[in-house]
Amino acid sequence: MVLCATRHPTVRIRSVLSVLEKKSTVRFAAMSVQAVAAKMAEVELKDVAGKDASPAISPLTAKAEEKKSENNSSSSSAAAAAAVEPSPVKMPQASAMKRPDPQQNGGEAFVNCDGTVAEAPRLKKIQFADQKLEFNKRPTKIGRRSLSRSISQSSTDSYSSAASYTDSSDDETSPRDKQQKNSKGNADFCIKNIKQADFGRREIEIAEQEMPALMALRKRAQGEKPLAGAKIVGCTHITAQTAVLMETLSALGAQCRWAACNIYSTQNEVAAALAEGGFSVFAWKGESEDDFWWCIDRCVNVEGWQPNMILDDGGDLTHWIYKKYPNMFKKIKGIVEESVTGVHRLYQLSKAGKLCVPAMNVNDSVTKQKFDNLYCCRESILDGLKRTTDVMFGGKQVVVCGYGEVGKGCSAALKAMGSIVYVTEIDPICALQACMDGFRLVKLNEVIRQVDIVITCTGNKNVVVREYMDRMKNGCIVCNMGHSNTEIDVASLRTPELTWERVRSQVDHVIWPDGKRIVLLAEGRLLNLSCSTVPTFVLSITATTQALALIELYNAPEGRYKQDVYLLPKKMDEYVASLHLPTFDAHLTELSDEQAKYLGLNKNGPFKPNYYRSASA
Ligand code: NAD
Repeated sequence: MVLCATRHPTVRIRSVLSVLEKKSTVRFAAMSVQAVAAKMAEVELKDVAGKDASPAISPLTAKAEEKKSENNSSSSSAAAAAAVEPSPVKMPQASAMKRPDPQQNGGEAFVNCDGTVAEAPRLKKIQFADQKLEFNKRPTKIGRRSLSRSISQSSTDSYSSAASYTDSSDDETSPRDKQQKNSKGNADFCIKNIKQADFGRREIEIAEQEMPALMALRKRAQGEKPLAGAKIVGCTHITAQTAVLMETLSALGAQCRWAACNIYSTQNEVAAALAEGGFSVFAWKGESEDDFWWCIDRCVNVEGWQPNMILDDGGDLTHWIYKKYPNMFKKIKGIVEESVTGVHRLYQLSKAGKLCVPAMNVNDSVTKQKFDNLYCCRESILDGLKRTTDVMFGGKQVVVCGYGEVGKGCSAALKAMGSIVYVTEIDPICALQACMDGFRLVKLNEVIRQVDIVITCTGNKNVVVREYMDRMKNGCIVCNMGHSNTEIDVASLRTPELTWERVRSQVDHVIWPDGKRIVLLAEGRLLNLSCSTVPTFVLSITATTQALALIELYNAPEGRYKQDVYLLPKKMDEYVASLHLPTFDAHLTELSDEQAKYLGLNKNGPFKPNYYRSASA
C-alpha cells in the first residue's frame, strides 16, 4: 500500500525531515526525504522482549537488511513511502527496539513494588496511595527548608555563581505567595520573578546560537506543524537550553506546561522569559520538596487542559500522573524519557505490566548517551567544582565512583587537569576500560582516607555512606554527578554531633566534633546542573533527539508502538548528528559504491547496527 494522503502523520514527519535536510550541507542530509523515512522504517528492530542483552539485530541480519534497502532506495519514492506503511508482514516500527533493564542487577529498585515513587532515603517519603499533601497548608520558609536540610545557626546563604545568575536569596517571598502576571495579563505560571524576563530572553538567545538543529527544525518546518494538537507536559531542568526546546515544540504546534525536575537547577530568569512568552512554567531555583511536587501538580491538575504527551527527566512527573491521575493515561500518546534513572523506572513499570502507554528511551540513543552524559560531564564537572570551591585540580587525588559515560567524562577531565584519578566500578567491563584508560581501579575503602575529592556517577544508591565520610580527610570535597540524590547518604550526616555550616549557596561544610570538616556540594544532588552551567551544544543534540522522539510518538499510526519502552532507530541518531556537523565545518567521507558493497551498507546509512553504542561501551 502506498501512502498518498499528505495529511497522514508519517507523511508529516517526513515533511519535517524534508524541510530540515534541505539546507543541511552534509551528505547525509542530501538524501531524499523518502529515503530518510524509508531508512527509518527499514531498520527492522526486532522485539527482544523477554530475551537478555542480545542485540536486536545481528550484524548479518543488518547486512541483509541493508542490501534490501539498497534496492529499495533506488526505486521510486512511492516505494519508499510504502516502506513506512505498516504491513502485516513487516511492521516498519521506526523505533521498536527494546533494551534490557540497565540496572537489572542493581538490586535496589527506584520504583517500589507497590508502585510508590522512589524516594531519596533521607527525604520525606512520597506516598501516593494515601497521600495527604495539602499544598495550601504548606510550611513557612523555615519549615520548608527543614524538609530538605538542617543548617546551623551560623549558616549563611551567600552569593555563588551557580546555574542561575540571579541570586535566589535576594527575595525571601515564596513564589507561591506572589501574584504575578506577564505583560499580557496571563497568570498561569509560578516563578521567582517575572521582572527578570528580559534578562532570561538574552540567555535564551545566547543558547539559540549553540542549538543549530533545533533552530533549523523551527525555522524550516515553517508551515508544517507536526505537533499540532500536542499537549506536552514536561519535567526537565529549566534552563536556557530547555527554553529553546520548548519554544521549538511550540513552533511545531505543541502547547506546553512545564515543571523542573530538580529543585536547584532552574534558571529563574529563563523561567521568567518563558512565562512572559506565554508558557505555563512552574519552577524556581531552591524549591522545597513540597514546592517540587506542587509545581508538578500545577502542570497537570488544571481545568480544561489535559496532556497527551509527557517529556520527563527522571520519571517523577510520570509517576506523579501514574499515582495521582491514572485516568490521564487514556489520552496520553506517549512518554519521552531522557535519564538513566527515569528509563530504569519505566522498565520497572513495564516489567510489572503497569506501563500503559508507549515510552521512548532517549537516554540510550547514542546521540544522548555518548554526548550528553560523556562530553557534557567532561566539561561541566570542572566548572561545577571550580565555581563552588575554587579548588585547584593539579595534583589532587580524586576518586570517581562509576566508570559509565558520566564517570568516563569526569575522569578524563580531571586527569587532563593533572589530578590523580582513582576509579571504582562493579562491572568488570567498565572496570577494564578504566584500567586501559590509565586509571587505578580501587575499592572506595582503599582510598577514602587519602582522597581530596569524591565524585559519584553510578545512578545507584548509598555509594558513599557515613562510614566512608567518617574516614575522609579534612577538607575532602564530596559531590554527585548522577541524576538522583541517592548516591551519597546525606541523611546519615544529619545527626546531632555533626554541625552543618552553609558557606556558599550549594556548599555546606559538615563538621565533626574534632573539627574535621567535609565539603558537601548541592546536598548530594547532581553537581553540574545545580552549581554550574552545562555546554549548550551538547544539549542541542539531546534536545533535537527529544523533539524527534516526541514527533515520532505523537504521529505514529495506531499500533506501531505498544505499551513498552522503545529506542529511536540508528538512522535518527545519525540524522541528529548530521545536523550538528556543519557547525564544525566537518567534511564527512562518503562511501564509494565498491566500499558500500564491501561493507554491506547502504551509502546513506545507517552505518552501524542499532545496538552499536561506540567503541568505548
Ligand atoms: P552508566 O550506566 O553508563 O554508568 C554507571 C556506572 O556505574 C556503570 O558502569 C555501573 O557499573 C557503575 N556502578 C553502579 N553501581 C556502582 C557502585 N556501587 N560502585 C561503583 N560503580 C557502580 O550511566 P551514566 O550514563 O554514566 O549515568 C550515570 C548517572 O549520571 C545516571 O544517574 C544519569 O542519569 C546521570 N547523568 C548525569 C548527567 C549530568 O549532567 N550530571 C548527565 C547524564 C547522566
